[in-house]
Amino acid sequence: MLEKRVFNINGKFPNKSKKYILYCMESSQRIDYNYALLYSIELADKYIKPLVVIFNITDRYKHSNQRYYRFMIEGILKLRGLFKDLGIKFVINRGTFLEGCLKFSKDAVTVVTETNYLKTQKRWREEAAKLVDVSFFEVESEVVVPVRLVSNKQEPYAMTIRPKIFSLLESFLEDVEIRQPRVKADSLDFESWELDSPDDYLNSLNIDKSVPTVDGFNGGTYEAERRLIEFIEKKLHRYKELRSDPTVDYQSNLSPYLHFGQISPVEIVKTILNNYPLEDENVKSFFNELIVWRELARNFCFYNPLYNQYEGIPYWAKQTLEDHKKDPRERIYSLEELESGKTHDPYWNAAQRELLKSGKMHNYMRMYWAKKLLELTPDPKTAFDIACYMNDKYEIDGRDPNGYAGISWCFGTHDRPWKERKIFGKIRYMSESGLKKKFNINLYLLKWLKD
Ligand SMILES: Cc1cc2nc3c(=O)[nH]c(=O)nc-3n(C[C@H](O)[C@H](O)[C@H](O)COP(=O)(O)OP(=O)(O)OC[C@H]3O[C@@H](n4cnc5c(N)ncnc54)[C@H](O)[C@@H]3O)c2cc1C
Repeated sequence: MLEKRVFNINGKFPNKSKKYILYCMESSQRIDYNYALLYSIELADKYIKPLVVIFNITDRYKHSNQRYYRFMIEGILKLRGLFKDLGIKFVINRGTFLEGCLKFSKDAVTVVTETNYLKTQKRWREEAAKLVDVSFFEVESEVVVPVRLVSNKQEPYAMTIRPKIFSLLESFLEDVEIRQPRVKADSLDFESWELDSPDDYLNSLNIDKSVPTVDGFNGGTYEAERRLIEFIEKKLHRYKELRSDPTVDYQSNLSPYLHFGQISPVEIVKTILNNYPLEDENVKSFFNELIVWRELARNFCFYNPLYNQYEGIPYWAKQTLEDHKKDPRERIYSLEELESGKTHDPYWNAAQRELLKSGKMHNYMRMYWAKKLLELTPDPKTAFDIACYMNDKYEIDGRDPNGYAGISWCFGTHDRPWKERKIFGKIRYMSESGLKKKFNINLYLLKWLKD
């Protein structure tokens, strides 16, 4: 099924007289279950050429900050030895994706990268594909079922995409074996940007240092796999019941690793199915998040260019929010007040503190947090923009289709109209009393507001 994940996006041809196959790694920062790497190895063997993998590090990406750069670089540095053992040349290039692709493609038979569902990354790929002289392949490496095969349009609801994904699922769960290419790349000589530690890279990058790094997450595939095993052994059996409770830790905490492609969703699914049957209610609940909602988010970003804008929410949602735009708010806060978690709502403040301190807010509180911004800011567009800004800035797993789809969901996307009320209109409401009724929410306040 590998071929179903692969798309030639520039219609050009390989140039067999060139020296190597080039894989520009970006979204799949791993070796295991990396379909773009697998395809690159197949091409290397087909053309009897060595394989070069480059990873670009730039300080010119809009959202660059040390919190998530450290996590990313920790993962990248651990790949160096693994590529060496495979006889694949791994080069860290200081520069943008486009610069790296163009520089290294001059001697490439063909270029491979992964599909990315976000606008900026899509644009990088389109520009690179236009400018390189040889074929440029995108591989859908970050989903279980390729988005383009599941549907050719923006799906309105989880319930409409679920059967489409599940009818194709099994055929995309084949084992993947990453093997050494026939030709080793040892003799190829490239300058790689080599420093000793993640901190050395952070120190030499001109990125935002105002967001502190966090201790709770160490980057890399090994750490992702360790967390996956821990999740299966200790949490999965109560996932359905407890996943929504922000006072306990029953989520997998895999989202930062999935975001950077340090672990594949296919590897997660297969590892779980080696331990549990698909019919298990906790497995069903977990796959509903990992597969259905995660791949719905990719479908949303792929087909809706306004995915990160207020204007991209459904028509009914915009209309109802506009109808209630002038409803009086109890108090409106500045960005600075919101960022430092100083509102009259202790639950919102606690969620913001969790975000600032841990770099990963609990899923249930993310919904409460984004929806409540409607009440804490002057109008829905401002609320939407602030949610995107803070999510991208502080979440280690931010700048991800899940984030934009999650925020957009809070404003009506993939949802239906509910009972009309002030400010929210017909958007699904969440309240403090709901938090108190469902959970022992004071424990959450105690944890995040104690100092
Ligand atoms: C306002 C808002 C903002 C969000 N921002 C992000 C973000 O920036 N990055 C991000 O990865 N997720 C985001 N989510 C989705 C979800 O909150 C996180 O994926 C989840 O909390 C991550 O924790 P976990 O890995 O422990 O989740 P688990 O419960 O263990 O779930 C496993 C995986 O399933 C996927 N998943 C879980 N919930 C969702 C969901 N609602 N939508 C799509 N995929 C899901 C994730 O990939 C997650 O890692 C957001 C949701 C909302 C409502």
